[in-house]
Amino acid sequence: MRLYEFEGKELFKRFNIPIPPGRLARSPREAYTVLSEMNQPAVLKAQVLTGGRGKAGGVKPADGANEAKTVSERLFELKIKGFPVNTLLIEPRLDIEKEFYVGVTIDRANYKLVVIASGEGGVDIEETAQKHPDRIIKKTLDISEEFYTFEAFGIAKQIGIPGELLRAGAAIIVNLYDLFKRFDAKLVEINPLVLTKSGDLVAADSRISLDDDAVFRHPELKEMGIESRHEEGEMTEREKQAQQWGIPYLDLDGDIGMFPGGAGFGIMGNDFIHYYGGKPANFMDSGGGPSPERIAKMLVLLDENPAVKAIFGARFGGISRCDDFARGVVMFLKDHGLSKPIVMRMTGNMWQEGVRIFQQAKAENPELFDRIEFHGIETPIEEISKRAVELAKGERSD
Ligand code: GDP
Ligand code: MN
Repeated sequence: MRLYEFEGKELFKRFNIPIPPGRLARSPREAYTVLSEMNQPAVLKAQVLTGGRGKAGGVKPADGANEAKTVSERLFELKIKGFPVNTLLIEPRLDIEKEFYVGVTIDRANYKLVVIASGEGGVDIEETAQKHPDRIIKKTLDISEEFYTFEAFGIAKQIGIPGELLRAGAAIIVNLYDLFKRFDAKLVEINPLVLTKSGDLVAADSRISLDDDAVFRHPELKEMGIESRHEEGEMTEREKQAQQWGIPYLDLDGDIGMFPGGAGFGIMGNDFIHYYGGKPANFMDSGGGPSPERIAKMLVLLDENPAVKAIFGARFGGISRCDDFARGVVMFLKDHGLSKPIVMRMTGNMWQEGVRIFQQAKAENPELFDRIEFHGIETPIEEISKRAVELAKGERSD
């Protein structure tokens, strides 16, 4: 469960991690009021459950109440990676001298906790990890192992926190580690931890993700107004629609609509698409033995997604029958119509009947099938994946 920046900062405050004194605004009018009372240069920060807000234009300075009003009007109209902006966190603007990164997470491969720090804060830490792994400090700990202040001190020194602030820096790192353990977190991050021109260390951002299965152990979250929520935050409109229809569905950021059979094949299809240089626009599971109606709805989700350039379909008929699959596809084509190219493959249980249904529908309405490339067991799934990537690219160069 991800926390909003302002919620994360509330936890920071409880653990003596310095944060700027912020206030929330839910309308331009409120932003105006906050700035007129704050009476100093401020930064307005969109509160959405995704990172990279800075790059997306979700973090903006404002120098007075009037500016706060106009700037916030624009912020409230933004959608950041599909998330609407309903709340702003307004803080006095920091005079930034240098930005650091400090985080704690789980090293899943080794069943350990890992403290990560870098002198290159503010930017995408994954990018730094790839390009300059030497600029990242990692300290791995066993869950039962004590994390000593002197070790945090060493880390603070290595990332370049100046001498007179090493004690403060070490305290922040140790406190962040305590917070991580006490709240059963999966990830806690301060990025950036800002060194101000006046020589203070301040957590300018917070990113916290808690273990959903352990949230019940922390009733104090509820007291703070932090309610349980969907893992990755707000659902997109399509995810909500899919949930209403009972279809497990997740939006991703690629352009190939994934129309698989079960979840296992969905994962494999995802790997195939990546392998051939494409990016899936979604993850989806049909569930065992989906009805034709459900199959049709799955296609509606993909066809109506403007990000989808081509659709990759695969039905391995097992419990799920190819004839029902074919009926669902035909139902979709007749009732809704297809606006994107599809390449699909169908094999397994009742495939002959499935093929017959397609052939009959095609004989009746050939135009419905204009954008469908249809394959059976003779074509390996690798070819289908490759073709889906080509189709998506072809659309792009139009
Ligand atoms: P993110 O892009 O979602 O990670 O949002 P951040 O809170 O990290 O903000 C992005 C960037 O805004 C930071 O890395 C800072 O460089 C920049 N920024 C500029 N002035 C300020 C300020 O006064 N406060 C904060 N928090 N960030 C500022
Ligand atoms: Mn950040």
